[in-house]
Amino acid sequence: MIPPLNYLRPNNLEIALSFLSDEKLKPRFILAGGTDLIVELRKGNIPPDSFVVDISFLPELRKLHLNNGELQIGPLITHREISDSSLVRTFSPLLSRACGEVGTPQVRARGTIGGNIAHASPAADSIPPLLLHDAVVHLRSLDSTRSVPLSSFLKGPYSTDLEEGELIERITLSPLKGFNFGFERLIPRQRVGIPRLIICVALKVGQVIEEARISIGAATPVAFRAKDAEDFLKGKFFSDEIFHEASRLASQEMLEISGMRWSTPYKKPVLEALLRRALKVASGSTPDE
Ligand SMILES: Cc1cc2nc3c(=O)[nH]c(=O)nc-3n(C[C@H](O)[C@H](O)[C@H](O)COP(=O)(O)OP(=O)(O)OC[C@H]3O[C@@H](n4cnc5c(N)ncnc54)[C@H](O)[C@@H]3O)c2cc1C
Repeated sequence: MIPPLNYLRPNNLEIALSFLSDEKLKPRFILAGGTDLIVELRKGNIPPDSFVVDISFLPELRKLHLNNGELQIGPLITHREISDSSLVRTFSPLLSRACGEVGTPQVRARGTIGGNIAHASPAADSIPPLLLHDAVVHLRSLDSTRSVPLSSFLKGPYSTDLEEGELIERITLSPLKGFNFGFERLIPRQRVGIPRLIICVALKVGQVIEEARISIGAATPVAFRAKDAEDFLKGKFFSDEIFHEASRLASQEMLEISGMRWSTPYKKPVLEALLRRALKVASGSTPDE
């Protein structure tokens, strides 16, 4: 059962920020689409009589546009709006694809990108593509603003660098010009939902691989960029052997972060196979597995 709450609905950003800085309004939670927060309420993880600040009606947080070559996404943009947007599809085919895979049509229509990042689930679909774009999270409180790379904003599973009184005001993505992409997502059979692995690849290929970016979600407490594999690929002619070794390095990085777990005997070979496939797609070869 949902406990009694104090519901606050600010009608502009300044009022929302003043609610978030008010010492008397505690404990306090931000509500956007509610797809994660309502689950937390039902689990009893939110104390009765908490203050819920509903930001979902604030137009200031609903912008989606290009600015100086960067894509700026307001936190209230939903997964459906991202996957339907031709601007996002052109700028970031990976983010467009990933948001189109989230949950169900109902969840995509309500769930926002800001909530997906702030909830910081290890399996959040938007995070691996955002990491490839070196996304920056712009935070605002009543009297300050600051910008933090997404990779530093995510502190651990369900834990972020968000401070008291702050909200995510926008997310910016740097362009990946001249890259080709690969995407793989593993979900439990016949179930809606939470992915077991998300793999995003961006390759810039000329005579050799000029640059490689690889991010992996749902395999470690926080999604990560597989830097050893990225460094290994740089400057190499692509071949099956090279992709095999890069995939082995990436699974090694997963093990270094999370150690051996009950799922490792399954996840390690599956990660390697899916990464090889994503690398082949991004390089323009035909995947054979
Ligand atoms: C059935 C179901 C299936 C799902 N499947 C998937 C899936 O496949 N992949 C996936 O990634 N997710 C999935 N989700 C999770 C969920 O839909 C996403 O995490 C969603 O993007 C959260 O956004 P929201 O607007 O609903 O956030 P809310 O629930 O409103 O908020 C989530 C958290 O973020 C905070 N928050 C929200 N906005 C801000 C902001 N601007 N600044 C600071 N803090 C903020 C809130 O305080 C809260 O702590 C699923 C959920 C359900 C119920």
